[in-house]
Amino acid sequence: MAKRLIFLGPPGAGKGTQAQIISEDWQIPHVSTGDILRAAVNQQTPLGKQAKDYMNRGELVPDDLILDLIQDRLSHEDTTNGWILDGFPRNVNQAAFLDKLLAKLDQNADCVLNLQVPDEVLLLRLLARKRKDDTEETIRRRLEVYHQDTVPVIDFYQTRKTLKTIDGNQTMDKVTEQLSEVISS
Ligand code: ADP
Repeated sequence: MAKRLIFLGPPGAGKGTQAQIISEDWQIPHVSTGDILRAAVNQQTPLGKQAKDYMNRGELVPDDLILDLIQDRLSHEDTTNGWILDGFPRNVNQAAFLDKLLAKLDQNADCVLNLQVPDEVLLLRLLARKRKDDTEETIRRRLEVYHQDTVPVIDFYQTRKTLKTIDGNQTMDKVTEQLSEVISS
């Protein structure tokens, strides 16, 4: 059975790690907008050149760069059996766009999984991670942007029974176990 999953959560919540594990378990592609953008920056593609400064400042990349990318990716044939979206949607406009896109593709998200972790834990995790855009200033800005733009996406899905909140402040295995349970049910 196809599984279509949306992972929500702040930077550092463990979305990427968990999405990768679930993607292998369920044999569905892991679509991470952050990974796609970082690859574009490294390859210095037109998208990468436009996205780079926003990413380094901890700001969201403008929607017009992201929406086409998602539309293309979800129209690819490897997504017929399902997908995991990680890092998208990140604001309400992106969530509304996704609704319309899924209607066009005649698909539905099965689960919206919200990984919850307190800010002070996120800050420590991100400072330890040392990715190129993980300076303290950028991290603080990313958390601000999360609260301002992405938390409303949780409210957007709150009214639907597909939203499930999971405590991300537990061991990695425990989080995987709880996610798998929710996804299988
Ligand atoms: P994080 O670990 O901070 O959640 P991601 O790998 O998901 O990081 O994203 C890294 C950066 O890529 C973000 O800070 C943002 O600039 C950009 N980005 C990723 N996804 C989106 C999106 N859906 N909309 C706008 N910008 C995005």
